[in-house]
This record gives sequence, C-alpha cells and structure tokens, in this order.
Amino acid sequence: MIAIDDKPKSHILGYPRVGLDRELKKALEKYWSRNISKNELLAQADELKLRHWNIQKNRGLDFVSVGDFSLYDHMLDHAFMFNIIPERFIKGSSSDDLDNFFRMARGKAPTGDEAHACEMTKWFDTNYHYIVPELVSNTDFKLNNPSIINDTNKAIKAGFEPKPTIVGPLTFLYLSKTKDNSDKLEFLDKLLPLYIELIKLIKQAGAKLIQIDEPILGLDLDDKWLNKMLPVYKELNNVGLPILLASYFSPILNNLNTLSSLPIVALHLDCVRGAEDIENLINNKISLPKILSLGVVNGRNVWKNNISKSLKLIDSVAKAYPEKTLWVGSSCSLLHSPIDIESEKKINAEVKLWLAFATQKVKEVVDIKSILLSPDSQSSKQIIDASDKIVESRNSSSLVNNLVVQNKISKIDEHTKKRSPFQKRKEAQQALYNLPLLPTTSIGSFPQTSTIRQARRDFKSGKISHEQYTNYMHEEIKNVVKVQEDLDMDVLVHGEAERNDMVEYFGELLSGFAFTSNGWVQSYGSRCVKPPIIYGDVQRTESMTVKWSTYAQSLTKKPMKGMLTGPLTILCWSFVRDDLTRDKVCYQISLAIQEEVLDLEKSGITIIQIDEPAFKEGMPLRTASQDAYFDWAIKSFHITANSVKDTTQIHTHMCYSEFNDIIKPIAKLDADVISIETSRSDMELLNAFEDFEYPNDIGPGVYDIHSPLIPKVDEMVILIEKAIKKIDISYLWVNPDCGLKTRGWPETKQALANMMEATDIIRKAHCK
Ligand code: GLN
Ligand code: ZN
Repeated sequence: MIAIDDKPKSHILGYPRVGLDRELKKALEKYWSRNISKNELLAQADELKLRHWNIQKNRGLDFVSVGDFSLYDHMLDHAFMFNIIPERFIKGSSSDDLDNFFRMARGKAPTGDEAHACEMTKWFDTNYHYIVPELVSNTDFKLNNPSIINDTNKAIKAGFEPKPTIVGPLTFLYLSKTKDNSDKLEFLDKLLPLYIELIKLIKQAGAKLIQIDEPILGLDLDDKWLNKMLPVYKELNNVGLPILLASYFSPILNNLNTLSSLPIVALHLDCVRGAEDIENLINNKISLPKILSLGVVNGRNVWKNNISKSLKLIDSVAKAYPEKTLWVGSSCSLLHSPIDIESEKKINAEVKLWLAFATQKVKEVVDIKSILLSPDSQSSKQIIDASDKIVESRNSSSLVNNLVVQNKISKIDEHTKKRSPFQKRKEAQQALYNLPLLPTTSIGSFPQTSTIRQARRDFKSGKISHEQYTNYMHEEIKNVVKVQEDLDMDVLVHGEAERNDMVEYFGELLSGFAFTSNGWVQSYGSRCVKPPIIYGDVQRTESMTVKWSTYAQSLTKKPMKGMLTGPLTILCWSFVRDDLTRDKVCYQISLAIQEEVLDLEKSGITIIQIDEPAFKEGMPLRTASQDAYFDWAIKSFHITANSVKDTTQIHTHMCYSEFNDIIKPIAKLDADVISIETSRSDMELLNAFEDFEYPNDIGPGVYDIHSPLIPKVDEMVILIEKAIKKIDISYLWVNPDCGLKTRGWPETKQALANMMEATDIIRKAHCK
C-alpha cells in the first residue's frame, strides 16, 4: 500500500466510463429494450471498471480512480445513494433499485411505469449533462448501499491502490434544486451526516485517501456558501481519512483564501483553466495544505501535453512552496476526453502524432511525475525531447499554418463591418419581401428519414454516384418545398437533408478540421458525441450550401432561407487547437462562414439564417470574464453577418439554454430576426422583456419540437397572444422552437398546419 508520504504522486481525477467501443452505451440500450438481463448489464459495468483500473495501473499511476464510473450519471448516483428519490418514482410497481434509478434518469424503466424524468442540465461549462437532484422537505435522507464501497473493496482485492472519488456536499447541494425555491443549504444538516457515514465506510473498506470534488469553488460563490466550507470540511476531516479536495474548470480566485484554512491533506488545482490561481499562489504565497496536486494535463482537450511548459509551471510552484509535496494530475476528470487515439486508423498521420486521448493522458501524467523524481535521467530527457519535437512540428506544420488566413486575421477589423440601423434595414427588407403580419417560418431541418440517412451513407461509401446522390437530395428538397407551399408558409427552407450534423457538415468542407472514427465523449447517459478537431487555420475552399439553397429557390417564388451554422457553435462543439486563443480561432471560422454568406447573397439567397445554439455555452463560468467573451463572440457574429446589403435579411436561431439573463448580448448580435426556443417553458423567455425592449424581430418558438405530441391550435393561439402582450406584433414571427429533423412526417405536417391555423386566427383578430 502506498503511504501518503512526501514523494510526488500521479493520479487522474476520473476516467471515461463508456468504453472504447461504447460498450456501456450498447449494454444500456440492450438492457432498456429488455434484450439483456440486469446481471449482464452489471457484468459489463464491472468489466469496464476493471479494464479502466488496469489501464491506469499498467501505465504507472499511483492510484486508480474508483467511484468515477456510473451507469448513467454520477450526480444521479449520489442522489440515489442519499435516497433523494422523488416520490413519483417510488410509487412505480417495480421495487427494483435499478429500475427506479433509470426511471429518474429517463422517465421510464424496462419494467414499465413512467413518471416524468428528473431535469437534466449541463455540468458546468462542459457538454456533459447531469441529472438534477430534487430536494423536498420530506425527503427521507439515508445512505442506500453505496456502490463505491463495493468498488473500493474490489479494487483493493484485485491489487489496485484505490482513490475513491465523490462529489462534495456543497457542490452536490448547489447543483440540486428545491421544488419551492427554498434555501438549499437548509438540507445540509441532513446531508452531512450521510457524507460522514459514507467516508467512514470508505475508510473501513481500506482506502488511504478520498478525493472530494468541489468544482463550485470555481464559481462566483456567495459568502453563505463559502462560509460553510470550513465547518463542513472540519466534520468530514474528523472521520480520519485524508482528504484531497479538487476544484476544476475555472479559477478559484478569491475562494482560495477560504481553502487555505481547511483541514485537508491535499488540494487539487486545475492548472489549465485555473492558470490565474497558480500566479496568485506564487505571488501571494497563500498558505496551503501539505500536498498540492497540479492538474497540468488538460482533461478537456485532445492535444499532447507540452511537457516543458508543464515542468516550468510545476517548477515555479516548487520554488514558491519548497516545503510542499507536489502531485501531478489531469486538470479535471478525463470523462471529457475521447478514449484512445491509437484506435484511430483514418485520421491524418501527421495530426495523429499531435493528439493524446484519455489513455495517452494517463501516461503523460505518469511521465511528468517520473521526471520530477529523476529530472536528469536519460528517460526524462527523452520524454522532454520528444514532447518539444511535437510542439515544434505542430508550430511549423503546413497543415496548421495558412498564411492567407493569418494575414486576414491580423487585419480582422477591416472585415468587421457595421450595418445600417435596424429600422432602416427593416424598411428596406419589407419593401422587398412584403411579408404579412406574423411571418411564418421553420428553423431549418425537416424530418430525416432512414432513407435520407442511407442515401448519405451510400454516397460517402461510394455506393452511389454524385449524380445519383444529387438527384435523390433534389427529390427531398422538392418534397419539403411542396409541403411548405401547401401550408402557405412565408419564408421557406430547403430541409437540410444533406446534413448529418450541423457542425460536422461544415467542418468536413472547411480546411483545418479533422474527424475521428471513434473519438466518442459522453454527453449524457448512453448518448455520446464525436466532436471534430480543429487543428489548423480554418479556410473555406469551396461553397458549402449554395447549390442546395439555389436549387430550392428555383422551385418557388417565396423567399428561400439559406441555412448556416454560426462560428461560435462550430467552435463550442469542437475540440479546439490550443496554440491560438479561442477568439482568433473563432474569427477564422467567422471569415469562412462570411464567404459563404456573401456567396449565398450573390446567388440570390437573400434571407440567411446563421444558427448559434451554442452562443451561451461558450460563456465563461466567472462573471468577470464574461464581458470579454461576449465582446469577441458578438464580433465573430458581426464578421460573419455584417457584410451583406441592407435588403439581405439575417436570421439567427438559439436553443438549449435559458437566454433571459443574456438577452442584452443577444440583442447586440443585431440579427434582423432571431428564432428562439421557449415553448417548453411556456414562454418564460418573455419575462426578459419586462424591463428590456428587444430591438429587432423575434420568433419565440410556439411549440416544442422535442415532444412527439402535436401542438393544439388554441394552445398556440394563447402563446402567441402572450407574446403580443410583451412584444410589438409588427416585430413578431411565428415558428417552431427548433429544427424538425428528429420528428416524423405525419406529426410534422399536422403540427405546422396547426401552427399556420393559429397564426391565421391571430392575424384576423389583429388586422384592422
Ligand atoms: N438549422 C438547424 C436545424 O433546423 C438548427 C439546429 C439546432 O438549433 N440545434 O436542424
Ligand atoms: Zn434549435
């Protein structure tokens, strides 16, 4: 057994759960459709845990992560472990724990009995989503057979050195919600004894250390939360199991002062996202626990570590704190990384050399620690040398550097145009399009049938020719245009049948992007995403959407809306290069999309939608950094959109988030029209208009496309009337709340027909 001594150690904050071949996803989906038994599912989970411990141990980590695995989500695991199970789930006929667990996550379990699922939301600013625990006053807090104990036992028996990992009580409560908006901290008294009991059990199981995650330390915390840190950690520390407290994703800043008084053995800092903290430590010599764990290996990106740079950082901390023991770690859990670059066979060989996924990151942590132990050894020199060479090869590669693009970026302000004031544009556009009151449109995609997907696959694999594929897509477009004309919609779309994914479609046509075959990252439960990798300067080499849009326009006299994905969304949903700041990468993408905008305009497509569903996602967690983000985010949108004529109408679309608190930056985008998700929350969005007058046209979604239910005419009439009370009717549009690609045809036609009928009713009522 390893003693917590004064030698450097290596560890990671967690490993991806899903398995290299997405074994967990497959097993879960089989279990949900009752194709495998509970025992088979649990056996698959055990197999994955063991495999991941072996990867960590065999590559040389001092500890293996235990408790980071979950069958769905770790926040849900905690809620379940503390018996925070809303009543609506307990009533189900099945008393099986696992069924209740999945019912909370998904609203249903294989044995039946449905209840509306718990809310799911983004885990800080990652693309991982957690299940939000629901606290009510009569919650029967108790400890339910925590699987982490079992896993700790198993790991020890199998010869691993476990580091059990839990979400800290304050972060857990902070991320929960109370039904009645009562104070979450009131539940601390009931929760804390369970944490104490849990840590006792973990200690009894034989662990020598526990990792407790409190990532809320990276947020702008109220004093009332901060003030609880000391009493809580005093109690937890009394159990006698050494505590490694971990924060990540954002700098701790002033909250560091609180940490210095906590009775913990070790503190983990994210040295990538929290680089400011390291400077702060060095400059101010804040007093800290005995052990400092430095998260120098980025858990949220895909690039090989710049080892010389990491060593420099570690060295500066070592000089400032000579008496401390330094550990090397990943910045955060590797949950947010793909699993193994070695499994990629098709990726460009040069780019592949630059990449490190979770398995490689484990090795990097080990390597850096071994250099700390013997800086002058031959092997240390080799590791540093190899890393320097990679850095150099990336810097100088012609794959990365495109002088034309770099030159444009150096004069970026020349590409940032100002448009005429909105009113002037609105008049010019109205004179041209002559749209009726409450113009109707959709968000872009129409149902993606299995034949559409098959056609795209057949074209990609060479089974059908370019001509056959084009003919097929033209038939689809014809159909979509006819449906919209029959419904008498005002601004039509071509339906996006050619797009598999709104980022991938553009990434594949732009230079500077790479795609993996197996680089999956868990988004929620069994859902994984495969983000593109932006490795080099981004440039548009050919037009990307013009031929589809102009074909669609040729079929109708109504205006056809061109459809593009905006630069921020492309950036947010990709792994981004780390050798250029995010704003610069975003400007490059903006210039590429700007070229497409201008091409569309030249070809007669003069209503153009630039989708930015991820506009809020890119926002930093700390308020102090948010203005700077919005500055470059808005500038990126302006680069993309503002070079067009006054008569060209720019739309944008946003969804997936609550936008009320960022309505002002949204207004600054100055799109002529924005369509925005809102219907799920009964037009809650409109509250934002109480004391802020949104200046441009807006289409608050009038029905929820995520639900298979067909919206009723009178429901939509009520929603539109509600909107009219807050927003001048001459600025309002009517549209669904998002793209229709996940829906079937019959429901889509019916839903849109009802939407048109509702619009008609209101038009009649309001036209004098
Ligand atoms: N235009 C896209 C579509 O309709 C927008 C998708 C999105 O908002 N996520 O599918
Ligand atoms: Zn959307």
